[in-house]
Amino acid sequence: MEFDVQAIRRRFPILSRTIGGKPLIYLDNAATSQTPDMVVGEIERFYTRSKANVHRGVHTLSQEATDLQESARRAVRDYINAASEREIIFTRGTTEAINLVASSYGGGFPEGGEIILTVMEHHANIVPWQLLQRHKNLKLKVVDINERGELDLEQYRSLFSDCTVMASFCHVSNVLGTVNPVKEMIAYAHSRGVPVLVDGAQGAPHLPVDVRDLDCDFYVFSSHKMYGPTGVGVLYGRENLLELMPPYQGGGEMIGKVTFEHTTFADLPFKFEAGTPDFVGIAAFAKAIEFIREVGIGNIEAQEHRLLRLATEEMERMPGMRIFGTAPGKSAVISFLVGDIHPYDLGMLLDKMGVAVRTGHHCAEPLMDRLGIPGTVRASFAVYNTEEEVGAFIEALKKAVKIFGY
Ligand code: PMP
Repeated sequence: MEFDVQAIRRRFPILSRTIGGKPLIYLDNAATSQTPDMVVGEIERFYTRSKANVHRGVHTLSQEATDLQESARRAVRDYINAASEREIIFTRGTTEAINLVASSYGGGFPEGGEIILTVMEHHANIVPWQLLQRHKNLKLKVVDINERGELDLEQYRSLFSDCTVMASFCHVSNVLGTVNPVKEMIAYAHSRGVPVLVDGAQGAPHLPVDVRDLDCDFYVFSSHKMYGPTGVGVLYGRENLLELMPPYQGGGEMIGKVTFEHTTFADLPFKFEAGTPDFVGIAAFAKAIEFIREVGIGNIEAQEHRLLRLATEEMERMPGMRIFGTAPGKSAVISFLVGDIHPYDLGMLLDKMGVAVRTGHHCAEPLMDRLGIPGTVRASFAVYNTEEEVGAFIEALKKAVKIFGY
């Protein structure tokens, strides 16, 4: 498909909004991306035409709903090149997917086991492992970064020991934008007999993902950062591991046969999908994947990188500017501070000019501590952002910092 950003923008109704009389410039895509008409349309179509609970009824609507959910599972399987849809578990998001693995797979860790994380992890890939520490005497080991925000791979390798039971790290940092060399890191972990979870919340929306090529054991991501609806996420797990793992939650859908004496569990993937799933959201997520395929992940990457380059060049020239995360090949996220201006003050002024950016610790407080800062302003791009928007953002930023004397 010929890349036409204006045609893409027309598919996102929210982008024609104004904020305080100014056109909205939405640069908070790493938190959540906006949703195209075909995804919103699917939600409306489902509620008005096909709503019935999945996997329960013999009636037409229930079968339609089930078919939609299962074809979404195939769409996800294809998107990440998983070997089987048995390896695709629908969750509420990345956070729930990591909690599922920590609780179910982690429940089998031996006392004294060591888990390798990195200092750039989102809280979602820290706290579930800490919760596990409450029940077991587990140790977290943390890989540091260099001044560009790249992982110290030598240190990573040195952290493995005979006690290492898991390595869990992000594909892409939501603060620094660093794209980690996950394939190499997974290969090393496997050479030490250690399974790997990749937090793909910032990977799957921006890069081609092939779980078989990566050879990861778990890969997790969220629909709402991929032009899809909220409330839906994915846990990809290697089938032989999922088979061995106990259920995470109990309830309907996940059982084989229930008696008061003994209950058996459903086959994969349903063993991990207790209760009524967000089947409308799941069907709409399939539309989001269709949208990404139509635009082309290569076009998405190229557009985002164009905007990243343009914005970075302009920002680097601004007095007092500090950009956190300068790794080559980074993803389209710019975290920054200007002089001693508080990030909230900058964020509020930018909002007055129609520019939506994130401020704060971005759910990565250990990283903020490592950088010795309380937080940053973060601008993050998606495929529908334009060079004109980057220009307007830079102008707004210049105006805002001038108010503070920069
Ligand atoms: N990991 C990373 C790297 C993220 O950026 C996010 C979302 N900010 C999450 C995990 C959590 O995702 P969710 O809130 O959709 O579960």
